[in-house]
Amino acid sequence: MALAHSLGFPRIGRDRELKKALEAYWKGELDEAGLRECGRALRAAHWQVQRDAGIELLPVGDFAWYDQVLGHSLMFGAIPERFRREHSRPTLDTLFAMARGASASACCGGAHGPQVAQELTKWFDTNYHYLVPEFSVDQRFQLSWEQLFEEVEEARALGHAVKPVLIGPLTYLWLGKEKGEAFDKLDLLERLLPLYGEILGRLAAQGVEWVQLDEPILTLDLPQAWKNAFERAYNLLQHAPLKKLVATYFSGLEDNLGLAVSLPVDGLHVDLVRAPEQYPTILDRLPAYKVLSLGVVNGRNVWRCDLDAALGVLRGAAERLGERLWIAPSCSLLHSPVDLEREDRLDDELKGWLAFAVQKCEEVALLARAVDHPEAPEVEAALAANRALHASRARSPRIHKPEVQARLAAVGADDAQRGSPFARRAELQRARLALPTFPTTTIGSFPQTSAIRLARQAFKQGKLSAADYTEAMQSEIRHAVNVQERLGLDVLVHGEAERNDMVEYFAEQLDGYAFTRFGWVQSYGSRCVKPAVIYGDLSRPKPMTVNWIAYAQGLTDKTMKGMLTGPVTMLMWSFPREDLSREAQARQLALAIRDEVQDLEAAGIRIIQIDEAAFREGLPLRRAHWQHYLDWATEAFRLCASGVRDETQIHTHMCYSEFNDVIESIAAMDADVITIETSRSDMELLDAFEAFAYPNAIGPGVYDIHSPRVPDTAEMVALIGKAVRRIPAERLWVNPDCGLKTRGWPETQAALVNMVAAARQLRAQYA
Ligand code: GLN
Ligand code: ZN
Repeated sequence: MALAHSLGFPRIGRDRELKKALEAYWKGELDEAGLRECGRALRAAHWQVQRDAGIELLPVGDFAWYDQVLGHSLMFGAIPERFRREHSRPTLDTLFAMARGASASACCGGAHGPQVAQELTKWFDTNYHYLVPEFSVDQRFQLSWEQLFEEVEEARALGHAVKPVLIGPLTYLWLGKEKGEAFDKLDLLERLLPLYGEILGRLAAQGVEWVQLDEPILTLDLPQAWKNAFERAYNLLQHAPLKKLVATYFSGLEDNLGLAVSLPVDGLHVDLVRAPEQYPTILDRLPAYKVLSLGVVNGRNVWRCDLDAALGVLRGAAERLGERLWIAPSCSLLHSPVDLEREDRLDDELKGWLAFAVQKCEEVALLARAVDHPEAPEVEAALAANRALHASRARSPRIHKPEVQARLAAVGADDAQRGSPFARRAELQRARLALPTFPTTTIGSFPQTSAIRLARQAFKQGKLSAADYTEAMQSEIRHAVNVQERLGLDVLVHGEAERNDMVEYFAEQLDGYAFTRFGWVQSYGSRCVKPAVIYGDLSRPKPMTVNWIAYAQGLTDKTMKGMLTGPVTMLMWSFPREDLSREAQARQLALAIRDEVQDLEAAGIRIIQIDEAAFREGLPLRRAHWQHYLDWATEAFRLCASGVRDETQIHTHMCYSEFNDVIESIAAMDADVITIETSRSDMELLDAFEAFAYPNAIGPGVYDIHSPRVPDTAEMVALIGKAVRRIPAERLWVNPDCGLKTRGWPETQAALVNMVAAARQLRAQYA
């Protein structure tokens, strides 16, 4: 009998109940009892829905008030000094202070000073963000938080068979950061393991039979010391009186395969969606006593599983493994929207192709049943239906567009290549644009005021006519242009008032994209994102931005920069197709955006910026896979940017500064100008230029837009002063480090006044 289980379920709720309760609690509109009740009700509902779907062993410990890594830090007592209160146990407010920071007045009459939140960072290659544990050289771990045990009790009281989920000790340490005096966090392992022993002991005493230890770092390139530590750690944990399933996901085990299969635990989970090729080797090398859990239903996307294909693997596995075969989603369903049934506006055909977390549980359960009872009528019916929907998709004219495919097939190497090399283009652009040295610009958006949001909402609800909406947005554009002229900026932007979101705005205007109403996925804390779904071949039926940009250009003699989102970012922040490679989808997007670039040029726009905010986050987890990604991602950008004349200047923008690893590919994108974040890292980026001379122009962000602080002129002059040491002055631009949409107008104007003054000073200094 194959066993159906799940690695974790989304906690946010099908109507984002947790989000709403958290925000009400933070505003003081809901008390702690109300918040706790919301959590309890969600857990109960989620266990029930998984069980009803046919999941036999339910996850506990996947619920978190803010983030599961933060939950572990509390459980382990890894609470940085600034959040600790003498003689008192951590409370929910400790947890929220660690997550969100707290002002000085929040407790003890301000006696403790402001508490800066822990750092937030991306969970592997997902769009989920976790709170980075902080370790000190004298770090002690002690059991400080009872949530896991309470939730186990709660589930058992409801009559469920449960499998608690813990982040494994190596992955937990890997995710954290050393603070203060220098040391190696791996040295903390010996102190952490006894606590794992204690926790496992308590779970066993609660009657738990299986525990899941998530060790996704086994899919990364690990230093030898960490590999060795795995053996040591699990040898010690071996004695805990319950069974352990080590879960890996997001990539293949590759060189850690031997290590993973031979750990002294009772079972191993592997991701066969991301890394199907590892299956035969794992099966061959798995010790005969071990459970093998196969993740065959994609936990990271929204498509129905190809059940026949999955069964092809599972039937063979069942023959070899018998009872030792478990079936699961590839990873925790945290990364899936909750329940497709909630969608009331998708057409039946499209809806039939999709599966969210609830449906994915049903697929897992069905697969388990199909392995054991291939002839059961309900199995046959479900498989037939699944076959039919895949067949209809494979033929559907909604998906397969011969024109798009023919156009892609006709793309040649020249299409991804500007007419002349940068030096020649720069000359032509200099003559045409007549900009001063250290030209000033901004990254695109200006403050998204509530007036803008209200107008957009009213328009969407049909309460504002198209003409009135256009006028409202044009008046915002006039305002933005006006302000920029008064400030004396050199290259202006229209301000992006008409855009809700830099991906959704374009996705809504492309053919091949669909939108859900409730397809929310947790990003961090109470924040959720609702990615658009790429379901078919992508094309642009008509211009998307030309009217707005041309209107803005008509208001000024200065150069107006057109603003687009690039193909890689469009892809990374959408749910992609599974029936077409990511690179093919990026190329389709590239051609659609290329059309827009060319239309902007034809409308007289002389500078066009193509944002690639997600370029770096698309990097695969394993270095060996980087080059392939960088090649197609770079090519997609070039394809969309290369259809213009030499004298049209292409900008790109990226929101981070960790370029050292990928600087050559960034250069290969061949944008005339790149603007990047550097102010927060104090021009750390420039280290990348030590070894590699970036050939084109660059605007290293001179101030951090993530805070309302107004930087002074001297500060910005000093930052560019550092840059001038590595990059010739004639290739430097002066700009903030990202868009200004989250800021208010007063601080925006004050900061830009200082920025323009900084550029003038620089011109005088380096003329
Ligand atoms: N042009 C966009 C803006 O200014 C860029 C945003 C981003 O890179 N995240 O808002
Ligand atoms: Zn940015």
